[in-house]
Amino acid sequence: MTTFFRTMLRTFADTVLDFIYPPTCLACSSHLPNGRERLCRSCWDSIPRVTPTLPLYLESREKVVASGIMSDLISLFVFEKGGAFQHLVHALKYQGFEKIGRELGKQLGERVIELGLQADLLLPVPLHRRKLRERGYNQADAIARGMQMVMKCDLTTDLLRRARFTVSQTTLTLEERKKNMENAFEVVPSRTLMVKGASVIIVDDVLTTGATLISCATALREAGVERVIAASVALAE
Ligand SMILES: [Zn+2]
Repeated sequence: MTTFFRTMLRTFADTVLDFIYPPTCLACSSHLPNGRERLCRSCWDSIPRVTPTLPLYLESREKVVASGIMSDLISLFVFEKGGAFQHLVHALKYQGFEKIGRELGKQLGERVIELGLQADLLLPVPLHRRKLRERGYNQADAIARGMQMVMKCDLTTDLLRRARFTVSQTTLTLEERKKNMENAFEVVPSRTLMVKGASVIIVDDVLTTGATLISCATALREAGVERVIAASVALAE
């Protein structure tokens, strides 16, 4: 089935479901007057926002920028355990609410524009093939698509791929795991010409250690990408 029909079918199914089960806030279960919203106003307002001087933002930015392979980090929210944002991202990742990704992506894209940053290409962090099969979609793709709607730049989902692991991560020491993660992604060889000299925004849902983004950025820089910016909807402590 083409993506277009799948999206149409999902939109139709969402409308029918909203009619049968009136929407409630994903975090507090209160009734929502607007079917397109997923959180009530007070739950939205309870999510801490990322500001340029927030210590968590400065620490996270340092993690990705200090490596020298990324030039900036953009983020919107603070991920708190048990907080409203966790409910939102849980629904996005495990309950099929792909639309949430696009909505969050639009907000992230607007922030990029506000900051005056530009890029040639949006690149969602690839999801492991097994997880993609289970979930049916990559939440980072949905976020990047939302960003594309407002930024009007190119988006690619088949530039990076997860390199195959021959050893299971569980048998490795912490140091070996780090090393393993460093080479976790590779640029698809036939696509390297396309990215030479480009500036790319890599997109993820929640940034925790930054290891995934660093690994993606390393592969991109090795393939000749000029500038890599990290964009993550939320930062976790
Ligand atoms: Zn609520």
